[in-house]
Amino acid sequence: MNEIPYLLIVDDDIGLLEALPQTLSLRLTAVQVDTSDSALDALRQIQERDYDAIVSDIKMPGMDGLALLAKIQKLRPETPTLLITGHGEHDLAVQALRGGAYDFIQKPIDRDYMVAALSRAIQTRRLRRQLAENQLALELHALSLERIVEHRTRELVEANATKDRFLSMVAHELKTPITSLKVGTQLLQRQVKRAAIDEKVSQGLEDIERSINRLQRLVNDLLDASLMQSNAFVIHRRRCDLVEICRHILDEYAVGSGSAPRFEAPGEAIEAEVDADRIGQVLLNLLSNARKYSPKGCPITVTLQQVGCEVTISVHDRGVGIPPEELEHIFDEYYRVADVEGASGSQTGLGLGLSIANKLVERHAGRIDVQSTPGEGSVFSIVLPMFVDLSTEEVDTAKLAPHTQATWTILQ
Ligand code: ADP
Repeated sequence: MNEIPYLLIVDDDIGLLEALPQTLSLRLTAVQVDTSDSALDALRQIQERDYDAIVSDIKMPGMDGLALLAKIQKLRPETPTLLITGHGEHDLAVQALRGGAYDFIQKPIDRDYMVAALSRAIQTRRLRRQLAENQLALELHALSLERIVEHRTRELVEANATKDRFLSMVAHELKTPITSLKVGTQLLQRQVKRAAIDEKVSQGLEDIERSINRLQRLVNDLLDASLMQSNAFVIHRRRCDLVEICRHILDEYAVGSGSAPRFEAPGEAIEAEVDADRIGQVLLNLLSNARKYSPKGCPITVTLQQVGCEVTISVHDRGVGIPPEELEHIFDEYYRVADVEGASGSQTGLGLGLSIANKLVERHAGRIDVQSTPGEGSVFSIVLPMFVDLSTEEVDTAKLAPHTQATWTILQ
């Protein structure tokens, strides 16, 4: 950076060519001055050396200063070029500046002005070089950062895939022993009942079965989550009756929780194209959350409604509710609202249930709406389109008027 600046002076006036370098060397500290008596010769020198500044007379035989300037602009656009004009040749001075000259110097040459103008030009060239170097360094830095980010992203993706493979393997491996534990416990329970053994043993076995059921749910959630991550999750849609799906799940839920649902308004079938098992799984999940986060004795209501071409299954609880700031996160993976009052610690899960439920409903082109007020309860609504492709359906518009198809109330 602190190299000696190189100047080039181009003029067909040999007297000036001899005098100027001396003047400049005396007044500018440490400069090297080359000279040239024609534009053509100057061009050759400019090609060989990257000068810090060039001074050229405009009027020269052959190629003149303006033509030389144009060539320099192409060859060395960063080199400041100063042109010497005759006294009063304003038009030429303007032409020079428009052509990209850094400055112009009028004849007779004022040495002080010329030295000052050249100092500025050298400084400008130095700053331009510095800028270009900094820019290059920045670009290199950005490139290396980009490489680091790419590398780290690759590592993360690989680590994530390894984690998913591991989760899926563990979940698979756990499924078999859990199932045999469950079958074994049920068998024991039946024998205990028959043999009228101590109440405590029977109670203990029921506790074990509940724990196994929870373990089974967690393992299934882990498996579903890892299949979803790797996009290996498949849903099988078929035309089914949603009233039937709800009734079936509510019965299953009632057996598990020991509470009978009251079926209040049996209506006609509502057919929709869904994966019955998966929609059942979502409903069961919402029901078990409703129970987990409600004090004992609070009723849970399930409503099935049809509005236009959409069907809504709502699960309404009068439990602890969810604070507004938590609502937008509850569908995030592994998200759990910290310390929900009224839900016992051992009951809370991995925070995967709602995330899976939401993805399952989204795969049906539907959504889950949530309304919740802390202390008053929550309504989780599964909203599903009735048909995959409306344009190919012959829709009976009479049937599309909003109506409630069925309501179940569960008293826990
Ligand atoms: P978890 O397995 O922890 O229950 P979920 O994904 O099912 O995970 O739910 C995420 C969080 O949302 C829960 O930790 C809970 O705090 C909150 N939540 C879900 N359903 C309800 C509900 N009906 N009432 C109150 N809070 C709920």
